[in-house]
Amino acid sequence: MYDAASLKAEEFISDEEIKETLSFADANKENTALIDKILEKARQRKGLDHREASVLLACEIPEKIQEMFALAEQIKKDYYGNRIVLFAPLYLSNYCVNGCVYCPYHLKNKHIARKKLTQEEIRKEVTALQDMGHKRLAIEAGEDPVNNPIEYILESIRTIYSIKHKNGAIRRVNVNIAATTVENYRKLKEAEIGTYILFQETYHKESYEKLHPTGPKHDYAYHTEAMDRAMEGGIDDVGLGVLFGLEMYRYEFAGLLMHAEHLEAVHGVGPHTISVPRVKRADDIDPSAFDNGISDDIFAKICALIRISVPYTGMIISTRESQAVRERVLPLGVSQISGASRTSVGGYADEEDEEVTSAQFDVSDRRSLDEVVNWLMKLGYLPSFCTACYREGRTGDRFMSLCKNMQILNCCHPNALMTLKEYLEDYANEETRKIGMELIERELEKIPNPKVKKTAYEHIHDISEGRRDFRF
Ligand code: SF4
Ligand code: SF4
Repeated sequence: MYDAASLKAEEFISDEEIKETLSFADANKENTALIDKILEKARQRKGLDHREASVLLACEIPEKIQEMFALAEQIKKDYYGNRIVLFAPLYLSNYCVNGCVYCPYHLKNKHIARKKLTQEEIRKEVTALQDMGHKRLAIEAGEDPVNNPIEYILESIRTIYSIKHKNGAIRRVNVNIAATTVENYRKLKEAEIGTYILFQETYHKESYEKLHPTGPKHDYAYHTEAMDRAMEGGIDDVGLGVLFGLEMYRYEFAGLLMHAEHLEAVHGVGPHTISVPRVKRADDIDPSAFDNGISDDIFAKICALIRISVPYTGMIISTRESQAVRERVLPLGVSQISGASRTSVGGYADEEDEEVTSAQFDVSDRRSLDEVVNWLMKLGYLPSFCTACYREGRTGDRFMSLCKNMQILNCCHPNALMTLKEYLEDYANEETRKIGMELIERELEKIPNPKVKKTAYEHIHDISEGRRDFRF
């Protein structure tokens, strides 16, 4: 029985409802009257539910697909402007007791180098990340109650926040660790994390159980209900994601939106972010072993449809994707990207380590952070190192209402300018600095509110004088 407000995984992600949704979408994929009606609803910034969005995903009429892409671009501009927030993943430990068949950290992989960072090694990693200019991290660790207990994660977060090197600081730590208890989520909240991220991998229960044959992650309900426990523990910014390529993408897409609808129905707050990873090659993993891989065209369509279905949710794309794919989907609604990522444990301080096969997946985009910043600006985007919202208490429903009313841009835009200015002062090479300074001059003029504009001008000047960390 499908019930978006139920707390049972099998009821809010009902297999029956997804199958009916897919049949409905198939039956209506050429129904232009219905498709136009759905597009009109999206145009009014009302978002779409999983059934409506699934009809659009099934639709193959080229002109309608073009309309979807154009609408996604417009919605992205209206809600997020041209800013793109940058972050880096930090792998703390690749010890893991689970058996996920698509991940090289699975327990039975004996030829991967296992490593867990000490607090001293974390200091080195974070210093290296600060020296690049990063301000926002997503920490990652395998599930292992002996090697990576919650105490280790909490201690690592404290270490990360404590490191102040030159003008560097990590101002927001997002956390991507295994599903855990309400009590542990409460501890993470107390440690002042930003977003708690947990990928569902697949919403298809039967496949889920096959893909996770051993370890605590095998429990579909415990994993799927994790965000409810996180919210019960006081974390109000949560990030969803599926690993595209494991199951039928249309099934996953419907499940993902149903999960978002569930969070709204129960907690009054939808997901803060949605990530769109695809299965990639890695040690012991061959993506061709998964026969549900999606093409770049479908991938772009999924990104566009997420954007128009949940306009208030940030969308994240990682360095798993190539520069070309990232360029293609950036205008369709992506609001956050990783830059200069190392997906091995200890990979920032010790560059060679990546070769010692401790990486979770192959990185397609291997450019430096400066190259990424430079590239974004040349494409007309405004790179941002902003971390303001949770530090200003703009989380959960406070953030959502600002975002839904298209007000958040009033904060994002000046914050992007100020944090970019910090980056240019402290880390950029000469060419990037020049392009950036010109960009800031132009963008400052676009701030509509005279008071905000004046303050932003003053803070940008103060940053030239050596002061740091301003925010709206
Ligand atoms: S996906 Fe996560 S839980 Fe699964 S094996 Fe990899 S690190 Fe462990
Ligand atoms: S103001 Fe908030 S939503 Fe905007 S970029 Fe900064 S942290 Fe993100």
